[in-house]
Amino acid sequence: MTQTTNLYAYVNGRYLRREEASISIYDHGFLYGDGVFEAIREYDGIIFKLREHLDRLYESAKAIRINMPMSKSDLGRIVVEVLKKNQLKNGYVRIVVSRGAGKMGVDPRNCTSPTLVIMAEPREPLFGEKVKGISAIVSSLRRTPSWSMDPRVKTLNYLNNILAKIEAIDAGVEEAIMLNEQGYVAESSTENVFIIKNGTVITAHPSLGVLKGITRDVVIQIVRELGYPLEERSMTIAELYNADEAFVTGTAAEIVPLIKVSGRVIGDGKLGPIATKIIEKYRELSRSPKEGIAVE
Ligand code: PMP
Repeated sequence: MTQTTNLYAYVNGRYLRREEASISIYDHGFLYGDGVFEAIREYDGIIFKLREHLDRLYESAKAIRINMPMSKSDLGRIVVEVLKKNQLKNGYVRIVVSRGAGKMGVDPRNCTSPTLVIMAEPREPLFGEKVKGISAIVSSLRRTPSWSMDPRVKTLNYLNNILAKIEAIDAGVEEAIMLNEQGYVAESSTENVFIIKNGTVITAHPSLGVLKGITRDVVIQIVRELGYPLEERSMTIAELYNADEAFVTGTAAEIVPLIKVSGRVIGDGKLGPIATKIIEKYRELSRSPKEGIAVE
């Protein structure tokens, strides 16, 4: 049975009940979105791709010049501890690192040490356990260009994504496709986007204004193993409308068919044959002890 009460969070060295866990109102993560984060899943006691998530977290922190307060292996041990304390076998973990509490004013010298929060809870896939597919609109908002705040850096600044999600909700669909600065398909509010056309799998290259998703990278590995041609390149909205199959990928959502975009049914409007194979393989891999760290 999944437990939703008595959850503990790690906050700057202490394990606190989540109702009691708090940070300063002067925290620059709160005041300015000045921080980075990661979301990770644990499947059947195995933390999936923990090393890859920690690598991305430390790279994000370095990009915005936050000194991580401990080594990756120590942080990894705390992630394990949080899952253990919460007795979770299928947990969703969130790591948040901000520049820390300081004074008002953006000057980072106001902050003496980073704030580190790790929380975990049971969480079903973003669009539900039994979702057959999702619909999306094309958002009026673009991803920030790579030459500005590079979307590969996973910062706490999610406003564009949140506004895109609001557009999706207003339109009565699950997701919003965000274009990049040049008007090519980048990603959805919190997932990478893949299309399949004539047996070729296509997704945006990480330099094209998208987060280099860990799920995306696993899917690419699977596509190569299955022997399908793969292209990481710019993709137009018309290519997405006319794809044979499309799906989105993310830690929260996992892999979900994208079956309608701005009124256009994608392919047959249901899970396609190639996506089926990819999802099967992903389920197998994500539960494999070889692909993660065991919570023991
Ligand atoms: N793009 C964005 C904007 C996201 O927030 C996420 C979720 N972290 C993803 C893609 C998917 O990345 P991942 O597979 O690493 O969860």
